[in-house]
Amino acid sequence: MLLNGNGSANGNGGANGNGNGGNGHEDGRRVTFGRAGRILITGGAGFIGSHLAERLLAMGSTVTAVDDLSTGRFENIAHLAERPEFRFVHETVMNESVMDRLVCESDMIYHLAAAVGVNLIIKSPVQTIETNVLGTEAVLRLARRYRRKVLIASTSEVYGKSDNHPYQEDDDRVLGPTARSRWAYAESKALDEFLALAYHKEYRVPVVIARLFNTVGPRQTGAYGMVIPRLVKQAVAGEPLTVYADGRQSRCFCDVRDVVRALTGLAESADAEGEILNVGSEQEITILELARRIIGLAESGSRIEFVPYQTAYDSDFEDMRRRVPNTGKIRRTLGWAPRISLDDTLREVIAEFTAKAAGAPAAGARKIAAARVIPA
Ligand code: UDP
Repeated sequence: MLLNGNGSANGNGGANGNGNGGNGHEDGRRVTFGRAGRILITGGAGFIGSHLAERLLAMGSTVTAVDDLSTGRFENIAHLAERPEFRFVHETVMNESVMDRLVCESDMIYHLAAAVGVNLIIKSPVQTIETNVLGTEAVLRLARRYRRKVLIASTSEVYGKSDNHPYQEDDDRVLGPTARSRWAYAESKALDEFLALAYHKEYRVPVVIARLFNTVGPRQTGAYGMVIPRLVKQAVAGEPLTVYADGRQSRCFCDVRDVVRALTGLAESADAEGEILNVGSEQEITILELARRIIGLAESGSRIEFVPYQTAYDSDFEDMRRRVPNTGKIRRTLGWAPRISLDDTLREVIAEFTAKAAGAPAAGARKIAAARVIPA
C-alpha cells in the first residue's frame, strides 16, 4: 500500500495500518513487545530498513515504512508495496503531524532514518546533523507521548578512531576535531544515544540502541561511498578497483540479513531495554584483501588501483584504520551470532551487479513507474 504524507492511500486500501491489533502491551512502565504487531520503520526504504521490513512481514507483523527517499530508494521496497500488511509513507520524520499519527498507530518503532555514508557526511554536514539529531528527537518525543518502544539504530562511528580494539559498548570514545566534518556524523549519532538513554532514564521510554558495524548485502548502493557495492560494480564492469590509501585499513562486514535478525531480537528482549549493544561481525579483513577476494569471486580481469585519500575525499578526511566490535554482549543477551559468510554475501552482491550490468530490471522495477505517483 502506498500513501502520501497526509495519509491518503494511493494504493489498494484504506489509510490505516490494518494491524492484527499487535500483541505488545503496556504495564505502565514499559512495553513488553511480542513477536507480531504493528511496526513503524523510519528509513524503511533504505538498505537495512527494507530488509528489516521483509523480516518483520515474515514474522507476521504489519509494517509501515516511512522514508523521505533522500538516500532510501523506492525500488528497495517495490516488491513489498502491494502486500496488504505493508504500507509506504513518503514523508520525512521531521513532519510532526504525520509522525504523530504513525507512531500512535504503531506498537513499536525501529528508528533507522539517518544521514549515512561518508560521502554524504562530507558533502552535506547540515543535513547530516539535522536529520540525525532532530529526527531522533522527534521520534523519541512521540514515543514518550504514546509510550511506544523504540529501537535506535546507531553506528560504530561513535567509537571514533580509538585504537582500543575490539570496541566494547562502554569504551571511551576518541574523536577528531569539529573542523573535520566526518566527526559530525559520530557526534550526531552519539547525541542520539544520549537522548535515547535520557528518555529512558527520565521518562521510562523503552529504548534499545543497536550500534551497527559495517553492514553489507544485496540492495546496498555505492552512491554514498560504501566499499563493497563500489568495488563489486567496478569488478563486474572490468574497471580498476579503487582501493584507498595502501588498502591495509580493515573492516568487519556483516550480512544485512544477520543484522536485521539481531534488531528484531533486540526489540523483543526485555534484557536489552535501556542498553547499547554492538551488532556486527568480528571477522576482520583488509580492504586490499577484500578487493582481491571480489576480483576472484567475480572472475574479473580488473586490476587494483591505489587512490590516495586526498583524491578520493576532501583534504580534511580522516579514515579509521580498523573497526572491530566485541559482540560478547549481544551474544550473552540473545545468543546472536552472524551466520552468513562474507564470501556468500559477496557472491550474492556480485550476482546482483552482474544482472544489473546485463540490463535485467531490478526487483520490482516494473512497479516503480506506477508507484511514482506518490507526491513528494
Ligand atoms: N574504501 C576504498 N575504496 C572505495 C570505497 C571505500 O578503499 O571505493 C575504503 C574506505 O576508505 C574505508 C573502507 O573502504 O577504509 C570502508 O569504507 P566504507 O565507506 O564502506 O565504510 P566506513 O569507512 O564507514 O567503515
